[in-house]
Amino acid sequence: MLSNFYKMKFNTKTIHGGQEHDSAYGAVMPPIYQTSTYAQTTPGGHKGYEYSRTHNPTRHALECSFASIENGKYGLAFASGLSAIDAIIKLLKPGDEVISTNDLYGGSYRLFTKIYEDFGIKFHFIGMENTSSIESYINKNTKLIWVETPTNPMMNIIDIEATSKIAKKHNLLLAVDNTFATPYLQLPLDLGADIVMHSATKYLGGHSDVVMGALIVNDKDLADRLYFIQNASGAVCGPQDSFLVLRGIKTLHIRMQRHCENGKIIAEYLEKHPKIEKVYWPGFENHPNHNIAKSQMKDFGGMVSFTTKDNNFKEAIKIVERLKIFTLAESLGGVESLAGHPASMTHASIPKEKREKTGVVDSLIRLSVGIEDVDDLIADLKQAIG
Ligand SMILES: *Cc1c(COP(=O)(O)O)cnc(C)c1O
Repeated sequence: MLSNFYKMKFNTKTIHGGQEHDSAYGAVMPPIYQTSTYAQTTPGGHKGYEYSRTHNPTRHALECSFASIENGKYGLAFASGLSAIDAIIKLLKPGDEVISTNDLYGGSYRLFTKIYEDFGIKFHFIGMENTSSIESYINKNTKLIWVETPTNPMMNIIDIEATSKIAKKHNLLLAVDNTFATPYLQLPLDLGADIVMHSATKYLGGHSDVVMGALIVNDKDLADRLYFIQNASGAVCGPQDSFLVLRGIKTLHIRMQRHCENGKIIAEYLEKHPKIEKVYWPGFENHPNHNIAKSQMKDFGGMVSFTTKDNNFKEAIKIVERLKIFTLAESLGGVESLAGHPASMTHASIPKEKREKTGVVDSLIRLSVGIEDVDDLIADLKQAIG
């Protein structure tokens, strides 16, 4: 069925991609099949569904949507972004090695170093803004390259196509965490990645009401191995959450368009502000990888980080406390604007010297720019920064 829809344009796929109307009553939205099991007429005599860890019709509709919007053949939905990453690492064996982006989501770093290093998997965390640095870390045990782009919170950009060439040359899997960009902005499978991963908690769900993860692949063997892990390990999402994310995806394109518009106006406002030292946003021409961002992304997204000239820890905390429309909170990608202070929140457990090396200084503030009226957002920043 999916292949029939492959030719649709993106803004149509978010609404119709991989979807069929309900066969029982023609419901336009897939019903929430709130059931753990399915009646059988005789052992094995069922309509394709046996048990909801393995398959559920609402989750299936969502998985088809995931595949469609990422230009992939197979989609898998998980209980969280981290459980989706966990399923990827379970493809590996003790002794295998992974080369990963060094500026990455803290939870991914924790999963890799605090859980999987104990199972004998070795991780190399390196700067990938210059892809030529990757090859020197490849040896006979290397199996996977892990890329997050744009990175969190420093907005570095990694060249997916160049990385995929290296992965193919050495017969390695390339997985891309596409949470920040979403398929509205970039399509990693089209650029040569093997696996796309999402925290659907963020932009795909888009309304800060669900925790969920997604994987999308094109290769049948790889899909089968991941479906096996999904069912065998069991970190699946429920039908209610599947419905919510499916509904969220239907407006992904218009939300992303506004996130990008507001993000640009706010990045440019901050850039001119006399108290601001530096603004991290890939849309600026002087961003170190602006050209790659321009070629692999359709626009520059709604994530903007900045530092103040005084670089004062306490003053940065005061700024985020003074914000009224931006909510001080973890997470990102919802319709509402959020602000975070990495040095005291997401990156607080990393020693000051180490975090400052990657740019997470005391005054760094990260904004997830929402889709409110941008004048109100600017007024809020103005009163908070002073
Ligand atoms: C939030 C996030 C994750 C983890 O996803 P959860 O849904 O919170 O488990 C992974 N990668 C990135 C880039 C994220 O922002």
